[in-house]
Amino acid sequence: MIQLERISKIYGELPKQAIALKNVDLKIGKAEFIVVRGPSGSGKTTLLMSIGGMLQPSSGTVRINDKDIYLLSIVERSRFRALNIGFVFQMFHLIPYLSVLENIILSTRHIKYDDSNKKAYSLIEDLGLSDRINYKPSELSAGECQRVALGRALIHRPKIILADEPTGNLDPENSSIVMKTFSNYHQNGGTVIIVTHGEDADPFADRVIYLKKGEIK
Ligand code: ADP
Ligand code: MG
Repeated sequence: MIQLERISKIYGELPKQAIALKNVDLKIGKAEFIVVRGPSGSGKTTLLMSIGGMLQPSSGTVRINDKDIYLLSIVERSRFRALNIGFVFQMFHLIPYLSVLENIILSTRHIKYDDSNKKAYSLIEDLGLSDRINYKPSELSAGECQRVALGRALIHRPKIILADEPTGNLDPENSSIVMKTFSNYHQNGGTVIIVTHGEDADPFADRVIYLKKGEIK
């Protein structure tokens, strides 16, 4: 389903160049749960953003369902991303002046789903946020913010979820809620890719891949 062929990413120009990824080959099947583990600076975020169509590699190809996503126009790629991929970040990236409900339904505004509101309410309930529905991010705990971010990712019923250190800022209880949400989504046929330096996602993974200095070990 996801196929990376000889992906390399070089940031900047000499003499300040950083080689973030070196000839990475990776195949990820439908409904696989993959953890990519590596220390800080090993290229995890670069890899995830490349898979997600947000960062074009310097060389190599990224294919999702046999489509080379960097041959799409920016508009086509945005649409492809919105329809297929959900993102979850360590720092949540919620819109500060929107409520829980508004943050979750915001990204559906240019894609018409008949049942967006209904789906949002049921996600909010599943994520234990019903009593926070009109709160702003500044009025929420880190764990609650990440649950909102999960709602925002899941409302599109994406085929793939990409998560960058999703439990990095959370207490154990909220980490466990986040991991269980990913696990449920995976059991319902979703593909999950988590990049992290920690070990807490390993027990959920079908496969753990080690990244070191931009190379898969
Ligand atoms: P990780 O997520 O594993 O910490 P990153 O993918 O963020 O690793 O970074 C990999 C390498 O690329 C690091 O050496 C980092 O300093 C460098 N890098 C990342 N983003 C940029 C950027 N926008 N400009 C220059 N160098 C960058
Ligand atoms: Mg990172």
